[in-house]
Amino acid sequence: MKVHEYQAKEVLTQFGVATQGGYVATTVEDAVAGAKKLQANGASLFVVKAQIHAGGRGKGGGVKLARSIEEVRERSEAMLGMMLKTHQTGPEGQKVKKILITDGVDIVKEYYLGITLDRSRNMNVIMASTEGGVEIEKVAEETPELIHKVWIDPTIGIQGYQARQIAFALGFQGDLFKQCVGFVLKLYKAYEETDCSLAEINPLVTTKDGKLMALDGKINFDDNALFRHKDLAEMRDTDEEDPLEVEASEFHLNYIKLDGNVGCMVNGAGLAMGTMDIIKIAGGEPANFLDVGGSANPQTVEAGFRIILKDPNVKAILINVFGGIVRCDRVALGVVEAAKNVNINIPLIVRLQGTNAEEGQEILKNSGLKIETAILLKEAAEKVTHALAA
Ligand code: GDP
Ligand code: MN
Repeated sequence: MKVHEYQAKEVLTQFGVATQGGYVATTVEDAVAGAKKLQANGASLFVVKAQIHAGGRGKGGGVKLARSIEEVRERSEAMLGMMLKTHQTGPEGQKVKKILITDGVDIVKEYYLGITLDRSRNMNVIMASTEGGVEIEKVAEETPELIHKVWIDPTIGIQGYQARQIAFALGFQGDLFKQCVGFVLKLYKAYEETDCSLAEINPLVTTKDGKLMALDGKINFDDNALFRHKDLAEMRDTDEEDPLEVEASEFHLNYIKLDGNVGCMVNGAGLAMGTMDIIKIAGGEPANFLDVGGSANPQTVEAGFRIILKDPNVKAILINVFGGIVRCDRVALGVVEAAKNVNINIPLIVRLQGTNAEEGQEILKNSGLKIETAILLKEAAEKVTHALAA
């Protein structure tokens, strides 16, 4: 689960990670009121920052300095409601509904610091670079040697010397070295205790008055661990997510939208991936990943149909269900019922295998619906691509 910068900073602050204060606003008046509070605390420079779930905001015009309350007003007016385009949003951009007003910081140098899971080593990895700021992707691609990595064994946890390795790699000395060691240890603690899959500070900055702090914060939480973080789960902002994916999650369907034209509905994540592969091998392109889970029933099948059909790119649907615990005749009944409630005017190919598969096939055949059935997965995929070509 992704969260906004202001939420990431709230979490980081709870763990003692240094960052500048700020106020989140959905209206210009609130933004101005926030800036006035910062001013009362001594701020004379402000930053107005678009809160969207995408990076690269600075380059797209979503991060603006303001030197007065009046400028905060102007910047906020311009930013709230704008369609912000960055390299991480779609071409139409993302609508800015919230902005963050922060203290403007006098930057001496920008650094990069990130923690994520290195799946190939089964360890967390801390990445740090002196080349922080808005071009970190370019650094990673062109000069990867400038990104220093330290791997943390999760069974042992982070050790002091590892935090010192990072501070050393970033070239800090004296008090900044100490601040950096503390920063890394606190960030790691935040990452681990909130079950992050990513905690990224870009830029981490040194300031004119000798401080080290997070100017930006990006956190992703591991969805599978959210059940033990009710407070964090509440930070979810569905406005920032694909509407079809939000709808699917309401039915506990595991749906991910893709760019192809073959909608697929499958039970089990592994089978869903295999189905996508075989669609590709047969010359098609999957429009989505959809795992209806082990409990494919008429309601979930119907919800699955609705969601798949809302994607205008979908030109054919392939249902692939392996009846293990779930019975194929029940799934077939679900398909028939759903097909009656949802208007399906594109080819539908159903492949049922496993428990009560024959009864399932019978139900589909006798339903009077225009459904093609298949026994082999390869056959099903070929029927789909054939239907597309017809
Ligand atoms: P991103 O582009 O979405 O990653 O947004 P960031 O929060 O990282 O901001 C982008 C850039 O804006 C930073 O790399 C800084 O150069 C600049 N910036 C952000 N906040 C401040 C600030 O308080 N003072 C100054 N001088 N620059 C800032
Ligand atoms: Mn950034």
